[in-house]
Amino acid sequence: MKWTLDSLERALRKALASSSKLKLGELPPNLAADVTWGSSPAKIRVDGHKVGIRPAVIHELLHVVLDEDLKPFDAQIQEVIIEALEKTIDARVSNSKRRIRWWRTSIQTKTTK
Ligand SMILES: [Zn+2]
Repeated sequence: MKWTLDSLERALRKALASSSKLKLGELPPNLAADVTWGSSPAKIRVDGHKVGIRPAVIHELLHVVLDEDLKPFDAQIQEVIIEALEKTIDARVSNSKRRIRWWRTSIQTKTTK
């Protein structure tokens, strides 16, 4: 399968909606967001006082969704790739009221239930 921005965002949405837990709150000083995965659901934590919540959630979901595809790269290179994709995907979301609303609503739903 070949990733496109479309299929990647779709996979991120699906991962957020159906197989992840999201917690907003204070994290240690050196940590703004993290994710643990391997068993479903993935657990995402974001400290919204340090970073933008939506870009951080997209970033952590990219780790989950691209896990297999990024296996050939070490952790440092994975981080470079994911940071670039985070910016691209988040900019794409920013350009669409519909996409902004989907992410806002979904993140709110995840954190209030
Ligand atoms: Zn990362």
